[in-house]
Amino acid sequence: MKTVIEPFRIKVVEPIKMTTKEERAHYLKEADYNPFRLRAEDVMIDLLTDSGTSAMSAAQWAGIMRGDESYAGARSYYVFRDAVADLFGHKHIIPAHQGRAAERLLGMAVLGDQHVVPGNTHFDTTRANIERAGSEARDLPIPEAVDLGAQHPFKGNIDLARLEDCLRELGAERVPFVLITVTNNSGGGQPVSMENLRGARALCQQAGVPLLLDAARFAENSWFIKQREEGYADKTPREIAQEMFALADGALMSMKKDAFGNIGGLITLNSDAWAQAVRNLLILTEGFPSYGGLAGRDLEALAIGLEEILHEDYLAYRIASTAYVGRHLAWAGIPLLQPIGGHAVYLDGRRFCDHIPDEAFPGWSLSTALYEHAGIRACEIGNVMFGREEADGTWRWPDMDLVRLAIPRRVYTQSHMDYVVEAVTEVYEQRKSIRGMRFTYRADALAHFTARMAPLPASSTVSSS
Ligand SMILES: *Cc1c(COP(=O)(O)O)cnc(C)c1O
Repeated sequence: MKTVIEPFRIKVVEPIKMTTKEERAHYLKEADYNPFRLRAEDVMIDLLTDSGTSAMSAAQWAGIMRGDESYAGARSYYVFRDAVADLFGHKHIIPAHQGRAAERLLGMAVLGDQHVVPGNTHFDTTRANIERAGSEARDLPIPEAVDLGAQHPFKGNIDLARLEDCLRELGAERVPFVLITVTNNSGGGQPVSMENLRGARALCQQAGVPLLLDAARFAENSWFIKQREEGYADKTPREIAQEMFALADGALMSMKKDAFGNIGGLITLNSDAWAQAVRNLLILTEGFPSYGGLAGRDLEALAIGLEEILHEDYLAYRIASTAYVGRHLAWAGIPLLQPIGGHAVYLDGRRFCDHIPDEAFPGWSLSTALYEHAGIRACEIGNVMFGREEADGTWRWPDMDLVRLAIPRRVYTQSHMDYVVEAVTEVYEQRKSIRGMRFTYRADALAHFTARMAPLPASSTVSSS
């Protein structure tokens, strides 16, 4: 059989509120044209993020009932610790309430003014936390990563030549660690190869610099390695994940992704000194080191999720269902990032809305059009998220202005995805009617979350070039 079916059946359902285009136009205006400001119940298919939006299994819900809510040393912590230890293999295992808490704690513990943290492409909160600590977050993706159409099996790889230069130039004094994100979320959900991780490991070892993984989607990365890298076809996703983690000295993880958690995060470290500093900071703001700001029941659900995420039938379905959406959109001629990533399909905002100049935010404008047309919520990862105003008042735009359709895990069926394909195709056919946007409010950091926008008059949208 060629048909890939959802490897689960549905036991509990959550109704979707159906809305009309007129209603959505109203909701969008009320939300200042920022999808983050919409009420979730006014969204029909929510592809804003795959973070914390997974459907938990019956086994996870059962684990929730078993949660031990003791303040210190709860049994649930040991269940969690053992599940993580078996997979990650690092000495210290520290729960955190989500990925960015892990980033902030590690950042505060080890980063300072003169530091540079190289990586393949830092995620937005990771970058913000590194910068908040006074350090520089330096992206060193391979050149293919910023070429939307370039076919490369491991487009998430770090550029080893540039990493070598960076380590040689700055040394261990200025580079406290290297952080590689698997899969590369900001770069399109693209995987990193084992060979690339081994190369980075060797360079780090030579320079005396620890290598850490940002492991939010480690299971999807393992699956891509199994499918695409020579020598891994017969290994299990768990064996591959263990090999990836063994190349690193520690990891940060948002467990709202590849642990099927609605909340949760993690820091693993081999360094005793760093672990101690992180735990001391954690006590100040998160709780006690055996729960890290989570409830005991969350730790149980995460431990089970870490096991379920590596099931081969799940991963085969997961990657196939994302590819299904991408393939059908590509057939309809819609410009998107190739190859299709693990957790999301990324539309090319600039080519989709080629009548809207960078200053009028083509990707963002497209995301609002998609909501108004079909009730689909997507997330811009482009000019609003990463655009920076220079000291001289000019704007610097990121290499890519993407609109991410992130697919929550085990939540939507194939007919939901067929609806998405039809909707994006219809919006593409009417794309010239999409109007550009301007800011009416912009925060200094992570502007996309709180931005207020307004559509430009139809005439001023067309680029003069
Ligand atoms: C989601 C994510 C984070 C941040 O995690 P949160 O749980 O949202 O705080 C960090 N890195 C990557 C790669 C992510 O995808």
